[in-house]
Formats: sequence, C-alpha cells, structure tokens
Amino acid sequence: MSKLIQCSFCTEKLLEGQEGLKLKGHYICQRCERKIINSTPQDKSYFLLKEKIKNIWVVR
Ligand SMILES: [Zn+2]
Repeated sequence: MSKLIQCSFCTEKLLEGQEGLKLKGHYICQRCERKIINSTPQDKSYFLLKEKIKNIWVVR
C-alpha cells in the first residue's frame, strides 16, 4: 500500500512512489517540479523557489 507523503514545496499530499521527485528525503510533487524546471530568473517566483530549494538542500 502506498503511503501518503507531503510535498516539501506546496505541502500538498501525494502518494509515495506514484509521482513527484524524491530529494534527500524530501518530496516534490510534479506540479512543483514543473514549476522549478520552467522558472527563469525573470520570473517573480524564481527567487522564492530558489530559497525553498536552498532550504531543502542545506542539511541543518
Ligand atoms: Zn508541490
């Protein structure tokens, strides 16, 4: 049985193994994954996304 996990970006619930991206124990749903891939430095959300990625990548 698949377990419900939470996207580290938008906190949306998703099924483990069904979709999304696993990264250092964090999950990112497909929607956020696409947002990250498609964002450019010209986008308003780019800076915010970058900050969130940094928070996930940096091990505290
Ligand atoms: Zn998400």
